[in-house]
Amino acid sequence: MTFDDLGLSPKVLSAVKDAGYETPTPIQQGAIPVALTGRDVLGIAQTGTGKTASFTLPLIERLSRGRAKARMPRSLILCPTRELAAQVAENFTTYSKNTKLTMALLIGGVSYGPQEKILNSGADVLVATPGRFLDHCERGKILLTDIQIMVVDEADRMLDMGFIPDIERIFKMVPPRRQTLFFSATMPNEIVRLVNTFLKDPERVEVSRPAQTAETITQYLVKVSDGSPKSKRAALRAAINREGVKNGIVFCNRKRDVDVVARSLQRHGFSAAPIHGDLAQSLRTQTLDEFKSGAVRILVASDVAARGLDIPAVSHVFNYDLPRSPDDYVHRIGRTGRAGLKGESVSVVGPEDSKSLAAVIKHIGSEPETLDLGGLTKPDNQKAKEPSSEAKPEPKPEQAEPTREKSAPRRRSRGGAGRKDAPKPRQDKDDSDVAEGFGDHVPDFLLRSALA
Ligand code: AMP
Repeated sequence: MTFDDLGLSPKVLSAVKDAGYETPTPIQQGAIPVALTGRDVLGIAQTGTGKTASFTLPLIERLSRGRAKARMPRSLILCPTRELAAQVAENFTTYSKNTKLTMALLIGGVSYGPQEKILNSGADVLVATPGRFLDHCERGKILLTDIQIMVVDEADRMLDMGFIPDIERIFKMVPPRRQTLFFSATMPNEIVRLVNTFLKDPERVEVSRPAQTAETITQYLVKVSDGSPKSKRAALRAAINREGVKNGIVFCNRKRDVDVVARSLQRHGFSAAPIHGDLAQSLRTQTLDEFKSGAVRILVASDVAARGLDIPAVSHVFNYDLPRSPDDYVHRIGRTGRAGLKGESVSVVGPEDSKSLAAVIKHIGSEPETLDLGGLTKPDNQKAKEPSSEAKPEPKPEQAEPTREKSAPRRRSRGGAGRKDAPKPRQDKDDSDVAEGFGDHVPDFLLRSALA
């Protein structure tokens, strides 16, 4: 099947061609023709499958005739995180370049003024995080009577982040005679309930977990016998120093480790930067841009911060520690080996990871090959392969970790103190992208004290 077979117009096809796509992915093949008919779609697919184009292309097509009136958008795309919303907006701009459609990106961490200006001049498409969208509604800046298409992207992440009450509320605010395109990587009960309540006879389009991706990923383990942070960092550096590592993402389970590992890599001369939910939005965007441009080679990330990020062509994924769930392992390593390219994952494993390792092996059906990094798994040999700045002392984060978890950013109440129905985001995750308006980032002195 080619893009020409999907029922898209020459304008949209030409933009797709310019984006460099030749063949539609399975989710695109399944969802686009159905969505073009106006029917609801339940897409079960995760990031990396091409799902963004599978809802953006038909949306552009269906809206291409017509024009939004002031403050009366014609479609709404809801995303769980600001980064994901920004990526969807970027995709929309790429695919809609031959049309006159206008778009407003409504996310927290950015001032209201410019967003309101676009709304006032009439935006056909809103790409928004639920919190900021509701803020604008409460300020009376958006009228929803013209909404023809509503998209919910990464619904299961919305659930993780405590956004489901917001989504339900929004579903009740938009006209019932609309098309809904609903995407989720998994279908927990709460999501099934939402689908059953708010979608009308949806066509279910499901693409399997990235089995194709897995074939292109070679997975390795590096076993660190004492499991100390120092040994793990040394093993990580040796893994990054291996041949063929063009760029990579290092995943850590804890936000504080993200900072510590990034600092440690920087001190050892690597081009590395951290990304997690406590960092200011502007800094996260800048870091992501630098990583995409190649100015930063190694991105150190927490799971939630990295979720949904569209980072093309990563040669390697490193697990500083194994994730708590095997699903997250598959998700993490799926960041490499995309679109048929070869990739490698290297997981640093200490004795305390044995349970997680057993779960991963059970999940993927085999044990990844163990890499021998020249004795680095023994703590007394770990200096063997350290890069140039060996003279610098190792940071000692574990001695004085800041208690930032306690001061996890709170979600600002929307519409003033009186808003009782604001759902509390679940804080059981290690990261805090949940918070709309969490711009308050970790003061630098805290990090410095952690590294002293
Ligand atoms: P997504 O799952 O929407 O985040 O897309 C993952 C990546 O695949 C993005 O970098 C897209 O630009 C890219 N992509 C989407 N559709 C196609 C396609 N048909 N062919 C090649 N790459 C694609």
